[in-house]
Amino acid sequence: MEKALAWPPANLSRSKIVGPVACGSAGPVPGYRGITPPHADTPLHLLLLLDLADADCPVKSDGSTRYLPLFYPLKYGGGGPEVQYAVLSDTEVRILYLSDEAPDAEDHQYVRVAQLPSCPAEILPLRYEEARILAFGDADPYFQPDKADLAILEELEREHPLILIGGDRRLPVNAGGVVCRNPDCEFYSRHLLVDIIASIPPVPVNGADDFWYEYRGGHVDFYFCLCRYCHTIIAFNVAG
Ligand SMILES: [Zn+2]
Repeated sequence: MEKALAWPPANLSRSKIVGPVACGSAGPVPGYRGITPPHADTPLHLLLLLDLADADCPVKSDGSTRYLPLFYPLKYGGGGPEVQYAVLSDTEVRILYLSDEAPDAEDHQYVRVAQLPSCPAEILPLRYEEARILAFGDADPYFQPDKADLAILEELEREHPLILIGGDRRLPVNAGGVVCRNPDCEFYSRHLLVDIIASIPPVPVNGADDFWYEYRGGHVDFYFCLCRYCHTIIAFNVAG
């Protein structure tokens, strides 16, 4: 089993992506092999492609790949699937686990498009006061921001809900436990600690969000995490 990437978690700092958002990087979106599960004809959707060579990207590569693609099975699992995969190279991933092996029936699929529209996006490091108020909100669900903090939060989400990358974050309590499904991982099938690579809400792209279909306007975040032990990418969604 190849190890995908070695991202030093200590290097993660929290960043935001600013609009217009955000299903690709500045460059052309590379094609990936391995994004269609065996015995199916419906590929995963690319939600975000991180350019690890971007100095502002908090996720770092060990040099073996330049990009980190964040894939999600939008047409599987009736709106709540989980996928785990390894990034083998800049042209190939390997699906290690998919909660639902067959895609949903066509008229029950949560999105209708074969792939999401793409546009370039820019990663911007959060300012101190932005990071602080988001961290307070993470740490305490009952936290009440004051007027000044509220203004900061509103400004952060002025164009769309925030896509957050990296950072020393905790999963929301309703995410439940995370289990690594990589049979070669020493923590296989056990609950584990993960680093959050990114959380991505269903944001508009190029001014439109109708392609999100059933997810459109929903209070949901697509979470992408990294097993600390084997670097498998673990993706699921969490209702807000
Ligand atoms: Zn693992």
